[in-house]
Amino acid sequence: MSVIDFRSDTVTTPTTKMRTAMAEAIVGDDVYGDDPTINQLQQLAADLLGFEAALFVPSGTQGNLIAIMAHCQRGDEYIVGQNAHTYKFEGGGAAILGSIQPQPIMEGENGTLPLDSIKSVIKPLDPHFARTRLLCLENTHSGRVLPQNYIEAATTLARKHGLSCHLDGARVFNAAVKQDLNIKEITQYFDSVSICLSKGLAAPVGSIIAGSTDFINTARRWRKVVGGGMRQAGILAAAGIIALTEQVDRLTEDHDNAKHLADELNKIEALSADMTQVQTNMVFAHLHQGSSIELSAYLKQHNILISQSNPIRFVTHKDVDANSVNILIKHIKSYLLSS
Ligand SMILES: *Cc1c(COP(=O)(O)O)cnc(C)c1O
Repeated sequence: MSVIDFRSDTVTTPTTKMRTAMAEAIVGDDVYGDDPTINQLQQLAADLLGFEAALFVPSGTQGNLIAIMAHCQRGDEYIVGQNAHTYKFEGGGAAILGSIQPQPIMEGENGTLPLDSIKSVIKPLDPHFARTRLLCLENTHSGRVLPQNYIEAATTLARKHGLSCHLDGARVFNAAVKQDLNIKEITQYFDSVSICLSKGLAAPVGSIIAGSTDFINTARRWRKVVGGGMRQAGILAAAGIIALTEQVDRLTEDHDNAKHLADELNKIEALSADMTQVQTNMVFAHLHQGSSIELSAYLKQHNILISQSNPIRFVTHKDVDANSVNILIKHIKSYLLSS
């Protein structure tokens, strides 16, 4: 009996085509720059994202860490959202390993960092203060798309104050597909971007960071320092190439399934999801009856996995379809009848 997993899009399994490409990949030692498949992936990603160069890294967390370390020196700081992955969900890596201080600010209602807040935390050059060096944005953030005019305004403000701009674009392809934009129309505002190949794009492992040649040269050095220099990892890059060439357009199905899921949840008295927040492949639904821990345990008995938080986060992806959503809804209803 197969499991239906709504916990995250990180659970996606590689496609058959990916597995074949992985088995047949031509490889070399990437620390020497000798892996043709990795080089191909990096060139493809740089071209797609509109940068001079790109670097294959083991995870999004490491990609963001390396990017922050490449932009900032010891004693610098980066401005970041209070709920951003690069602040809250990366174990404090930039501070621990880079001696780079985060300056978190609270996101506004739509997931953006208010321009006034950004401005108010940029510090003057003064030995009392860490040197404000970098603005980090996240798109999508909790499934929400940053408006294009907001990105333009925030990065313009940052540059006016001499800051560089990094995009945590773990799911930026979702944002592009949602807005029917070429990805470059989003990435053009940033000095560097990180993207995850291993979420909705279904590769088993790996992320990309992209930026100028200088930036990537510095990043390559930090990648080695933090232990991310891999050897015949073209086996993984082969799947990444297919992720970028064949898995982007289908993200729209995930967005449709998320909308369908949210609509169905809203028909149930005990659950509510704010539809304005359902923009890509995530649904956050408040459970007003029973407990999300109990619900999650109940669903698990029926081979359905969900997160235990409340609001409950449901994520749609390649390995769940409209019928999986219907099965989920049916079992949620039977839980509520029994609770
Ligand atoms: C998943 C994710 C990352 C990186 O995660 P890894 O699991 O380390 O690949 C970074 N930022 C955001 C917003 C994410 O969702």
